[in-house]
Amino acid sequence: MTAWLNPALECLECLSCDRCQEPASLPPTCPGCGQPLVMRYALERLARELRRGAWDRPGAGLWRYRELLPIADRPRTGFNTGFGAVRLPSPVVFDGVPYQYRHTVTGLKNGFKYFTAVTSYDLGNVEIESLESGISQNKTLAIPGPAPGERPDRGVSVFPNPYRVEARWDHGQKVRDHYLWFTNLPRRCTLRIFTLSGDLVFETEFDGDRYQGGGARGIYDPRRELDVPPPTLSGATFGWDLITREGQAAASGLYLFAIQDHASGERSVGKFLIVKSDREEF
Ligand SMILES: [Zn+2]
Repeated sequence: MTAWLNPALECLECLSCDRCQEPASLPPTCPGCGQPLVMRYALERLARELRRGAWDRPGAGLWRYRELLPIADRPRTGFNTGFGAVRLPSPVVFDGVPYQYRHTVTGLKNGFKYFTAVTSYDLGNVEIESLESGISQNKTLAIPGPAPGERPDRGVSVFPNPYRVEARWDHGQKVRDHYLWFTNLPRRCTLRIFTLSGDLVFETEFDGDRYQGGGARGIYDPRRELDVPPPTLSGATFGWDLITREGQAAASGLYLFAIQDHASGERSVGKFLIVKSDREEF
């Protein structure tokens, strides 16, 4: 017997198929034939335990007769949690943690930052409006992108290309808040960026299993985003903040990039264009 159920509730009986269910939960209808269920109570026990006049309580509401209601106590939040729609048939285990629910968010755009949090809230009343638990308690950051090997027919590419003044995901106003993405990278590789005349502008060792956007503060800045753990990334994308290895903002122009795959030794090259503005703050 579940604690929130009336202890005098004996079974949920289906008048159509005569089957009796343990009142472990309160299914709305008979799982066998879909007919409404009848609550059967231990009436002799109630007759013994209930004193005469038990229902002479103030108030005319339903809860005056709580000894004959299927649930033991007045619900504070309601029973429709909404979780039924996202409950998995059987739990799925990731990293040793079993997960009961799954919700798929569709229509996400590659390269953009998305924050998620699961919160609980109540319905409020006339005196106190609905209260919600803190978003920062389990806020996570994810940036979608093609997974390693998801697009084997395509080589490494850069987006947006051309990078015009700013990308649509650039929220920051300062020069170091901007970034562009390299995508479809090998799991581990060396990424080099050159000017057209062959000067090395930037170089990094990319490891898709470890890369978390560090170094590009527009993607993830632990000093500003104290309540957010490092982002979940696809494992095949790297964000460059358009700052050269000399610490300067990259100028407008055409750039070349070269990727060397650590596993196969293969090299691939490409180019991208940066168009800067002389507007203030960019
Ligand atoms: Zn039935």
